[in-house]
Amino acid sequence: MNNHSPNPSLEGLVENIREWAKELGFSQVGITNIDLNEHEQYLKKWLKQGYHGNMQYMNRAFPNRTKPKDLIPETCRIISVRMDYSTSEANSVEALSNPKKVFISRYALGRDYHKTVRKRLSVLAKLISERVKRGNYRAFVDSAPILERAIAEKAGLGWIAKNSMLINEQAGSWFFLGEIYTDLPLPEDRPKLNKHCGTCTACLEKCPTNAFVKPFVLDARKCISYLTIENKGPIEKSLRPLIGNRIFGCDDCQLVCPWNKFAPPTREDDFKPRHNLDDLNLVEAFLWDEETFLRKTSGSAIRRIGYVLWLRNLAVGLGNAPTCEEIVNALRFRLNFPSELVREHVEWALTQH
Ligand code: SF4
Ligand code: SF4
Repeated sequence: MNNHSPNPSLEGLVENIREWAKELGFSQVGITNIDLNEHEQYLKKWLKQGYHGNMQYMNRAFPNRTKPKDLIPETCRIISVRMDYSTSEANSVEALSNPKKVFISRYALGRDYHKTVRKRLSVLAKLISERVKRGNYRAFVDSAPILERAIAEKAGLGWIAKNSMLINEQAGSWFFLGEIYTDLPLPEDRPKLNKHCGTCTACLEKCPTNAFVKPFVLDARKCISYLTIENKGPIEKSLRPLIGNRIFGCDDCQLVCPWNKFAPPTREDDFKPRHNLDDLNLVEAFLWDEETFLRKTSGSAIRRIGYVLWLRNLAVGLGNAPTCEEIVNALRFRLNFPSELVREHVEWALTQH
């Protein structure tokens, strides 16, 4: 990676930023300009095809997403950071192979990353502003219309891979991204972009719902992460049997990726599994009352979907589980649940037994 800048004081500041970021637990920092034109064209086509499903906010926020100045007018650079979240203690891979267990995507087993990463990014932004005694900064963690993977790729944090995730040669794809928009003309990182997927197609073949239209193009409407988290309505019946026991998100296209062999374990206790969420029975979770759901998911990203969608997803998982009295009884117990959405998924699940 080469830095190009005639301004030594800004170069010094970049060195400080890298040191501070490391101390704050970030694994890597990159700095890039705000030209996202190439990615704008890709996003335009993707939205036109309707692959975003019901995520209408993506359409609405389109200009802000691709033109950082539309979001924060003074912005001229973006500082992109990543923080590893993989934890060797998680039992989620075992859970995936046991159809009576709940599978939760690895990123959601611990504390809600939005809080942890945003807090650290705000400290980084504050350190920068104290050092230069001027400047405008805004820190983002999946919290505004931002093309975070495109920014991270431009900043040298990895490449956008065939599975649409950002992959780093040393760290795979188990990491969170965050950004600071700044008006300081910091020297940019100008990495040579190499996409290292080569002839591999493991992720495309592994996807349970065949959600990839082609390499690099994901139809979110078929993706289990979208279906179980973003989608607030009924899950299409033809897709339900393919979801298996994936109750919150899906990691298949990352689990199979050979680059994830290199993923280092997280240094953050916050991202380690909480409340045994990596070792939970479907029936037990389905019988939680709302108060238990709120307690067990306190501080977790899972809470964002709410109790009703949690039960909807669990009903699908129970419909896919092997038939036994315990499962049928649990489903019958929820037949009169007040939400029509839950009732319909419970009725479907019972038809599977
Ligand atoms: S997250 Fe799962 S469903 Fe979505 S694209 Fe990856 S493998 Fe397919
Ligand atoms: S599984 Fe293979 S094709 Fe898919 S993202 Fe990883 S390296 Fe690329």
